Amino acid sequence: MLLWFRNDLRTHDNPALHYFLNNTRSESSRKAFFFVSESQWRQHDWSTIKIDFIKRHALALVAELAELNIALEIVYVDDFKSQVSYLKNYCQKHKVQQVIANGELEFNEQQRDAECIKQGIVLKLFEADVIVPKGKVLNQSGQFFKVFTPFKKAWLQYVQRFGFEYLGKIGVDYHKGPSATALLDNGASSAWPLAGEFETKVMPHFFNEKLTAYANNRDIPSIKGTSGISPYLAIGAISPRFVLFSLINKFPDIIVATDSPEFAWLNEIIWREFYRHLLFHEQRLCKHQNFNEKYQDIEWRSEQVLFQAWCDGKTGYPLVDAAMRQLNQTGWMHNRLRMVVASFLTKHLLIDWRLGEKYFMQKLIDGDLAANNGGWQWAASTGCDAQPYFRIFNPIRQSERFDPNGDFIRKYIPELMEVPVKHIHFPHQYIKELQQTLYWSPVVEHKEARLKALAFYKR
Ligand SMILES: Cc1cc2nc3c(=O)[nH]c(=O)nc-3n(C[C@H](O)[C@H](O)[C@H](O)COP(=O)(O)OP(=O)(O)OC[C@H]3O[C@@H](n4cnc5c(N)ncnc54)[C@H](O)[C@@H]3O)c2cc1C
Repeated sequence: MLLWFRNDLRTHDNPALHYFLNNTRSESSRKAFFFVSESQWRQHDWSTIKIDFIKRHALALVAELAELNIALEIVYVDDFKSQVSYLKNYCQKHKVQQVIANGELEFNEQQRDAECIKQGIVLKLFEADVIVPKGKVLNQSGQFFKVFTPFKKAWLQYVQRFGFEYLGKIGVDYHKGPSATALLDNGASSAWPLAGEFETKVMPHFFNEKLTAYANNRDIPSIKGTSGISPYLAIGAISPRFVLFSLINKFPDIIVATDSPEFAWLNEIIWREFYRHLLFHEQRLCKHQNFNEKYQDIEWRSEQVLFQAWCDGKTGYPLVDAAMRQLNQTGWMHNRLRMVVASFLTKHLLIDWRLGEKYFMQKLIDGDLAANNGGWQWAASTGCDAQPYFRIFNPIRQSERFDPNGDFIRKYIPELMEVPVKHIHFPHQYIKELQQTLYWSPVVEHKEARLKALAFYKR
């Protein structure tokens, strides 16, 4: 029997690992693989920081699994095709009867697994990426939900009725950091601790100190009011079932206390589930098709200069620009800002959401197809339970509401450091009057862009 790690780089609550441990004898040599497939990952637009983060966790896993007498080998192969042939050869050579792994949701990953089976590899798959199994949250006609709120109700009912399977920790010391650094690209992700430290220090701190204020603080980008757990969930280094288990431990009524301030956070975890369940039912989303087919023929504008200004954080709208600079500099962006910049690209600049989706994936440490596609299609109004096309964020108003003193803006746009609060959200006129030669000029005018977008979408 062989264990194959993929998007589940953890020993904690890992169903494939549990099965493997229960069905192999500890004294026999236990073997596991993890494939580093950079060209495949690049095809999927995975960012350097995410790849670095994965490699750090793979190294940590080698040490953790050694304590369980499992030798994890990290194998470099180019792509999924090579993974299949490598496994096939290994299984034939070593007479491996069965390969154990956790399933992956995305289209190419599923095609790869189908190819393994076609090639004669006996693959036993478990589900490790969601709390409620995919395909189990359905409406009364047995269809998947296309609106979040009824999905959420049904999801909560499912958890109340059937609970959820949490396998718990196994006896390994997962605080250990990796000693070797050979696999690391450039330490790009070093600002993020390993999952073990996140689980034992950062998450309890968030639960104890920040969760109750989450609903109030989650929209303010200058405050660290959100959990920062997304990179760990995106690479499977932390289990979503462990997240719910810990939450229930701390707030036993959370599943029914939907009005409590803490529920606001669980609500977001359920959004994650919503998009994963959606991708399970609608694999065409992996091919970046509009969820709502009526938008299939939209003729997005092809404006390279405007797109570049957006990527570089030089649109002339400070909140949009600060957000893009946060992404470019740190590999992460605050959720409120993801909504603002996505709305700006699609509705102010009328540029295809797919370009924004791709750019995000190429930069984000938490790049995740289901959540990213869901978020982009939500903002572009092409998605499942998306915002209506006529809802267009005013980037100046968003700035006044969510960064009232301009603290976040000044952090990422030091050239606006001296601009007074009353001008910080749209400093164009102020700078012009000072006759400064800053680039500061908006690429589009908000009111005009809004009217254009309304006409564009209506058409
Ligand atoms: C255009 C756009 C693109 C996005 N791309 C991604 C992505 O590639 N990867 C990603 O993990 N999230 C993505 N999100 C969702 C969200 O912005 C991030 O999950 C969140 O900012 C991560 O920070 P956090 O862990 O501190 O979140 P918290 O506020 O602490 O939330 C906890 C967890 O809930 C989940 N969650 C929160 N909001 C959402 C949401 N809107 N949709 C789905 N799940 C959510 C995440 O797993 C998150 O880690 C995107 C949102 C938008 C609008």
